[in-house]
Amino acid sequence: MKYDELNERVKKAYVRVRNLDDYYWNLEDGRIIGIHKKSELNVRIKFAANREEAEKISKNKEGEGIDIIVVPEKNTFYLYNGAFILSSKFLRSTLIDINDHIIWHGFKVIEDKGKLIQEDFYEYLGGLLINHLRNSMLNGQDYLLWQFYKCEECGKYVDIDSVARHMKREHGIDVANRSEEIYEVFELNFVKGKIFNKFGKEVKEEQFSREAKEFIKEMFKNVTPVSEEEFEE
Ligand SMILES: [Zn+2]
Repeated sequence: MKYDELNERVKKAYVRVRNLDDYYWNLEDGRIIGIHKKSELNVRIKFAANREEAEKISKNKEGEGIDIIVVPEKNTFYLYNGAFILSSKFLRSTLIDINDHIIWHGFKVIEDKGKLIQEDFYEYLGGLLINHLRNSMLNGQDYLLWQFYKCEECGKYVDIDSVARHMKREHGIDVANRSEEIYEVFELNFVKGKIFNKFGKEVKEEQFSREAKEFIKEMFKNVTPVSEEEFEE
């Protein structure tokens, strides 16, 4: 297949997304496959003649990955059967939002042909993404996604930057001796001034370590006034 042979709708959608370099782009007959570079998560961009057809297509699950179905109707954006059904003008911003919700959450050093290599783990926080879209919440302004480590010694959550200090000071453990770490990703919600896990359940203050409490206090102190002003309008 040659580029010239692609159908017009595929070309018009492709031109909107091809400079998003967080993805590899594969053009197939009648659809576009975006492969998120870090996580290898697939985003399948399909095309429908109208909403009805899009909803029919959404029922056809192809396994892991995200389905986006582009319809010609203007100002369309909704979720159906877990698929995004949208007008092409929302395609780019949706792909940026998806990228914002794929978060690094740990690593493991593995042996491969005599070499030691680091394998990284990423998590797609689809539930939070939908929540953020519904409430028109902006990344960096209304919320931030942040990694926390659940300490195996005291059971408290420690923010990622304080893990080494916490393990040393509280438990005498040197993290340099560890070859793997897994984090949980939480949402710092500046609108509510609360912290939520990936399922949208609140993580209470007493569940955090001393260092994490300080970190959270600092984060909320800096950002909350901006959000409050925004919400008074
Ligand atoms: Zn601890």
